[in-house]
Amino acid sequence: MDLIYFDHAATTPTRGEVIEAMLPYYREQWGNPSSLHASGREAAEGMEHARQQLAELLGALPDEIVFTGSGTEADNQALIGTSIAHQKKGDHIITSQIEHHAILHTAQFLEKQGLKVTYLPVDSYGLVDPEEVRKAITEKTILVSIMHANNEIGTVQPIAEIGAICREREVLFHTDAVQTVGHVPIDVREMNIDLLSLSAHKLYGPKGVGALFVRKGVRIAPLLHGGGHERGRRSSTENVAGIVGLGEAARLAAEELEWESKHNRELRDRLIQGVLDNVPDSLLTGHPTQRLPNNASVCVRYVEGESMLLNLDMEGIAASSGSACTSGSLEASHVLLAIGLPHDLAHGSLRLSVGRDNTTREVDRFLDVFPPIVEKLRTISPLSATRSADEFQGGPDFHDHDEDGHEH
Ligand code: PLP
Repeated sequence: MDLIYFDHAATTPTRGEVIEAMLPYYREQWGNPSSLHASGREAAEGMEHARQQLAELLGALPDEIVFTGSGTEADNQALIGTSIAHQKKGDHIITSQIEHHAILHTAQFLEKQGLKVTYLPVDSYGLVDPEEVRKAITEKTILVSIMHANNEIGTVQPIAEIGAICREREVLFHTDAVQTVGHVPIDVREMNIDLLSLSAHKLYGPKGVGALFVRKGVRIAPLLHGGGHERGRRSSTENVAGIVGLGEAARLAAEELEWESKHNRELRDRLIQGVLDNVPDSLLTGHPTQRLPNNASVCVRYVEGESMLLNLDMEGIAASSGSACTSGSLEASHVLLAIGLPHDLAHGSLRLSVGRDNTTREVDRFLDVFPPIVEKLRTISPLSATRSADEFQGGPDFHDHDEDGHEH
């Protein structure tokens, strides 16, 4: 049985071209990029080339790229690094309720250090209202951090608009773009972004390497102190091969983004339509149109997300329920609760995230096996005890969305 991988939001397979680009930096050019001799210079050149490749993908300058050990580290540095560097200006950060835990837990950590954090609510599609950002800004606000796209429900935020408001109010703007870099066009200048986090393993690069874009002139304190690498912004001997892999992944993404997002969008829409048409009591989560090209996330009533995952796994299909971090815990996803879903419905979430190697045949195989899985689970699920009660009261009251995203 061939594996069908529909979990690209958790991680993507490392592309062959990326591995090929990395191998010489393990086998031959393994020097320390800080060394002055030829071996060190070769490693440093590989790293600087990667910096250039990544900068081009973002519309940034190479010097504005700080390589990190992950997207999580980039998020930590954005929040902690700005709060330290700008503590004279203020002690207030604005973020949203649906951020990844790399932001939310860092914000909670900063609250324990005495900072004030505003967690903006979102609407039923998971959208932040830019006007709410404007209203939340005070004299003491040093940073606004709103993710570009949500990792669970795929909603893409009006980042350029939020960035423009921050620029006007002279507040730094950070975006966690871990789910969008390489998948959605980004231009940090046009979008008024001061700081942006990304992670290589979400764009077919290696795990354990990320980057923080820091706009020229923006002050940020380092988290790691030592030999002054990355122009003093992140000490540590660099993960040269990983960085070269990220650079190559960025180059390929820039070349293929248009093709890939069209390919993904077609598969995504086939999945969404197929589930909504063939699984009774299912609904789309996130925005119908302003969403990641690769994200099909749904909630299925009267079924546990984990049970769906296990049954799909037995069919050789890899999917996810909520985010990879929340699955395995019994708490309902904070994102699904923030968009207003009741607990029982939030527990029945399924995230399918497609990628460049997926095919229509794979989507159709999923659509063959999934409705019977749901049917089977419903017959044995304790949750279906509530089903007859709901049916008695006239059935579940689902939000229905039309093409323009209006709820009716
Ligand atoms: N931010 C978002 C939106 C993510 O989806 C993830 C990973 O799932 C991260 C941050 C963390 O990135 P990393 O896995 O590189 O630490």
